[in-house]
Amino acid sequence: EKENTRENNVAKIRVVVRKRPLNKKELAKKEDDIVTVYDNAYLTVHEPKVKVDLTAYVEKHEFCFDAVLDEHVTNDEVYRETVEPIIPTIFQRTKATCFAYGQTGSGKTYTMQPLPLRAAEDLVRLLHQPVYQKQRFKLWLSYFEIYGGKLFDLLSDRKKLCMREDGRQQVCIVGLQEFEVCDVQVVKEFIEKGNAARSTGSTGANEESSRSHAILQLAVKKHNEVKESRRNNDGNEARIGKVVGKISFIDLAGSERGADTTDNDRQTRIEGAEINKSLLALKECIRALDNDQIHIPFRGSKLTEVLRDSFVGNSKTVMISCISPNAGSCEHTLNTLRYADRVK
Ligand code: ADP
Ligand code: MG
Repeated sequence: EKENTRENNVAKIRVVVRKRPLNKKELAKKEDDIVTVYDNAYLTVHEPKVKVDLTAYVEKHEFCFDAVLDEHVTNDEVYRETVEPIIPTIFQRTKATCFAYGQTGSGKTYTMQPLPLRAAEDLVRLLHQPVYQKQRFKLWLSYFEIYGGKLFDLLSDRKKLCMREDGRQQVCIVGLQEFEVCDVQVVKEFIEKGNAARSTGSTGANEESSRSHAILQLAVKKHNEVKESRRNNDGNEARIGKVVGKISFIDLAGSERGADTTDNDRQTRIEGAEINKSLLALKECIRALDNDQIHIPFRGSKLTEVLRDSFVGNSKTVMISCISPNAGSCEHTLNTLRYADRVK
């Protein structure tokens, strides 16, 4: 019962803003830091604010979020502020999602990379508690990418995947490899393997990965429901073990990529349109969740379709909006804050 109370205390949707420090290049150019974070969530109980001060434009913008994290906040503190409170709820059938949203270079990957590791650490510790050990819960990991509206398995040579919905409206990604993970080191190795497989093109790794959404899922499953006889040859038992709860970590495509719809390159235009569509659909779904709407418009994009089962029932959503502090990024920063503000 205590667990239940705690679960209810974890907000269904949280929107957190993280500002990164000025980087070397920005410092060398003597760029202004135009972003002021008023209060760290740790220091105050009143509404944390972020202010974008475009003094040059004689304009000021203020936004309030559930928490705003300044450039001094560590990744560990980000974890404690965003994901940690959700972890125990995973054992109570919660499907949780943690997104990093923002322009390329704003710190999405920097923010997201350590989160699944820390989460796995906590999940593994909980798995070993007598109450869960008795139920034979196991932790499973998968890592895939959505690129140009198509799904690729990052842990099996970018194998192309497709999605299927079963009669009970459960989403299933056909052929997605899932791996049982018992310790954090293994999780780390899978993440590294997956990162290396992220889309890279002639234009360079970072450029291309900014056009894809990377989705890492940690699922708690009940082991005794995995039927040995139904295992695939390749050992993929993804659809057989019953999911208790799960958490998805999503490193979204660079938000500015959604504007690439007028680019000269046809492929870039198509990808831009797809990214634009998915980020809009994501916003609509989170808003619908927040309003307790029965109809969640998940069909708006591949991204939201894949997340369908995380948008129903016991769902928790954390959005980490990453922003760059430099004056040169002000338009993108404002767009990110407006997006986050609308999600709220
Ligand atoms: P994105 O994934 O949004 O394109 P990255 O996470 O790759 O951005 O970050 C861009 C650069 O800024 C990287 O070199 C990263 O190490 C650095 N960076 C981002 N956030 C922080 C931070 N909070 N503190 C220090 N460096 C950061
Ligand atoms: Mg990145």
